[in-house]
Amino acid sequence: MIRRNTGFSNLTAGYLFPEIAKRRREYAASHPDAKIISLGVGNTTEPLTPHITSALAKYASALGTPEGYSGYGDEQGNTALREKIARVFYGGKIAPEEVFISDGAKCDIARIQTLFGRDVNVAVQDPAYPVYVDGSVVAGAAGANTGSGYEGITYMNCTPENNFFPDLTKIQKDSLIYFCSPNNPTGAVATREQLKTLVDFANANGCIIIFDAAYFCFIRDEKLPKSIFEIEGAKTCAIEVNSFSKPAGFTGVRLGWSVVPNELKYADGSSVRADWNRVMTTLFNGASNIAQAGGLAALDDEGLAEMKSLVDYYLENARIIKSALTTEKFKSAGVEVYSDGNAPYLWVRFPNRKSWDVFDQILDQCRIVTTPGSGFGPAGESFIRFSAFGHRADVEEACRRLANLTL
Ligand SMILES: *Cc1c(COP(=O)(O)O)cnc(C)c1O
Repeated sequence: MIRRNTGFSNLTAGYLFPEIAKRRREYAASHPDAKIISLGVGNTTEPLTPHITSALAKYASALGTPEGYSGYGDEQGNTALREKIARVFYGGKIAPEEVFISDGAKCDIARIQTLFGRDVNVAVQDPAYPVYVDGSVVAGAAGANTGSGYEGITYMNCTPENNFFPDLTKIQKDSLIYFCSPNNPTGAVATREQLKTLVDFANANGCIIIFDAAYFCFIRDEKLPKSIFEIEGAKTCAIEVNSFSKPAGFTGVRLGWSVVPNELKYADGSSVRADWNRVMTTLFNGASNIAQAGGLAALDDEGLAEMKSLVDYYLENARIIKSALTTEKFKSAGVEVYSDGNAPYLWVRFPNRKSWDVFDQILDQCRIVTTPGSGFGPAGESFIRFSAFGHRADVEEACRRLANLTL
């Protein structure tokens, strides 16, 4: 019999979202009349916008005509879209050939592991989006889970005590460093100075940063960097993964991109971009042409304006939730809310409590599903992540209910 990939045997059960779903189900079964509101998962809720929707529809219809039909496109993506991303999002500082269109950031994060194999050291922020760790484990770049994390993975604490920016000295030389800003789950956005520190560290220590910028469009503070490539020196040490999922509501449509600079090299001097080109052409076969037509429309003036108002809607939700959690009652109970208006998540600490206990209490007393911070890593203990993805009326109702939470 064929043996199982040891990467899979090392992988411990996906605990967080199945466990949340189970507790929600049990609560619903014993409270059949309760209207449960979810401020839990990071999934978009508002409809696609008109200009972008019409481009998707037009392209899809044209595919049903002899003139409008096309089959496989370039595996790296539609040339016009690569050019437009380079120009609109990177101000022309990135060449179109360095932009690779994909079916989403998460998929690219998983595929990126193929570039570095099983021997690479991996460092992740703690707490973190689960695919960085799980993808590394499946690829064989990590060992067994010892209970306090996987062997071979360096967990970098990101807490209010260090302004959510980790101590880099714990990272081994020649590591792959996953870094997410604006961060899921903490909502923290790294400053220009912090990213410069990270880039300098990576260049000095032979590391490559996988920079997840999936929430860049939520940044409203002009001083904060939206891309790692705004930082001098990043082209020799960073790959950026990005996505239309959150800016355009393409979570179901599926469209993302990665930027792999020409200057990025392995230890032997060969080109990382050349290998990524190989990954995209031989292991991937191009993003959906319909989705790419939507991406093109998203990047013209009307599309950009639509994306901005879509994101503004979620940012307003975040503001509303923040005001509900910063009333005198919450303040005097010592509840700390981390949310500065540049991310769709609020990271909220309930001192001396366990995340799962607070989760259960909010579900029981307010009929609101949240996400326990400890599910994103040990440094998330005592925290709850509130997601601002939701319909306004639900968010407002959730906030009324939160006023009744006993603290
Ligand atoms: C939502 C999200 C993404 C986007 O993933 P897609 O596969 O493009 O939908 C990437 N990274 C983080 C941290 C996310 O939360």
